[in-house]
Amino acid sequence: MTVVIVGGGLAGATVAQTLRERGDDGEIVILAAEPHLPYERPPLSKAVLLGDKGVDSAYVHDEAWWREHDVEVRTGTEVQSIDLAARTLVTNASEQPYEWLVLATGSEPRRLRLADESGRPVHYLRTMEDSLAIKEALTDGARISIIGGGWIGLEVAAAARNAGSAVTVHEGAELPLLAVLGPEVAQSFADLHRAHGVDLRLGAPVTADDLSEADAVVVGIGVTPRTALAEAAGLEVDNGVLVDELLRTSDPHVLAIGDIANQQHPVLGRRIRVEHWDNAIGQGKAAAATILGSAEPYTKLPYFFTDQYDLGMEYFGNVGPDGYDRVQTSGDFGGAFRAWWIRDDTVVAAMQANDWDASDVMRNSVGQAPPPAS
Ligand SMILES: Cc1cc2nc3c(=O)[nH]c(=O)nc-3n(C[C@H](O)[C@H](O)[C@H](O)COP(=O)(O)OP(=O)(O)OC[C@H]3O[C@@H](n4cnc5c(N)ncnc54)[C@H](O)[C@@H]3O)c2cc1C
Repeated sequence: MTVVIVGGGLAGATVAQTLRERGDDGEIVILAAEPHLPYERPPLSKAVLLGDKGVDSAYVHDEAWWREHDVEVRTGTEVQSIDLAARTLVTNASEQPYEWLVLATGSEPRRLRLADESGRPVHYLRTMEDSLAIKEALTDGARISIIGGGWIGLEVAAAARNAGSAVTVHEGAELPLLAVLGPEVAQSFADLHRAHGVDLRLGAPVTADDLSEADAVVVGIGVTPRTALAEAAGLEVDNGVLVDELLRTSDPHVLAIGDIANQQHPVLGRRIRVEHWDNAIGQGKAAAATILGSAEPYTKLPYFFTDQYDLGMEYFGNVGPDGYDRVQTSGDFGGAFRAWWIRDDTVVAAMQANDWDASDVMRNSVGQAPPPAS
């Protein structure tokens, strides 16, 4: 059996690793556009930018591991087209047949023309090269303008302040992270960054004038799933590649996982596309199970984490389009802190900050009645 994986990110790497762990000894090929072996991205906006770790720490496995496990990783190889009927694909180097095809092409940063045309050095953050370039720009006294008060923008802000840079964050919404966290908890993130000396400019779109003095501009305004390949092949695509609970696309020999997969989620009862590290791993494992014929629906609820200054946070669940009625919290933000987003007297999402012993409790609280208020 030949399994071909398009994309050498965490999701693609996890499929190959899981197939080997579960005893598959067929041919596995990873076609990876980047010139690197598979690596994880979270350190690129955290430990690498802080100078605590080098980019090498981000590799999923070293070269010897891939060799010993007989997984062929073809770096610098971009898939250009897929012929679903013939079960072959064309890369920049050759043609490749498959029996199972796994699409794991990930996301790319949304561009902002205003920044690109600002005449200032502009950075986006997705790859090792991006992270190293930003790290170089974060020097003592440098004026760093960050556009976007989402996770990437705020993590870069924290690293920049750590380096002694003067940091301005421009966010069009009234608060950073407002869409994900709602005003109650988003306000705490705004306070945290202001307490660390970040100039947060909220509620107005960034202008060219705002950037004129910046030594470097970092744009973090979200990502777009890389679905062009799937779409051109004729797979069903709608805000990501549409997949069922087993990660199967509209073609029975093709799976899609990670940032590009818009999954019919068996527990949430709706479609969801998740752009998080844990989802890349979980769907990679589930895709391997589907290939091996042991149907194991991917049922895990979304989970993500962030580190900013001394704050480490985990978030479980998903509020979704129906929103929430109220937020219940306990503890102090900055110290040990817990929050529950509640709809119809049921927890739909939960988070802990600096309260690591609470991880399991918070994870398990999703879908349950809220705990007694403290
Ligand atoms: C800086 C940064 C920090 C992050 N921090 C966190 C965090 O703290 N917590 C969290 O939960 N999540 C975080 N994330 C998100 C997480 O990294 C992503 O959800 C995860 O990388 C998705 O994995 P993936 O394998 O689906 O896609 P990707 O990691 O994007 O990998 C896809 C790969 O496919 C390749 N590719 C694309 N098209 C082709 C083609 N045609 N042919 C061959 N190869 C192709 C791409 O070059 C890329 O290498 C972060 C992301 C970034 C960028």
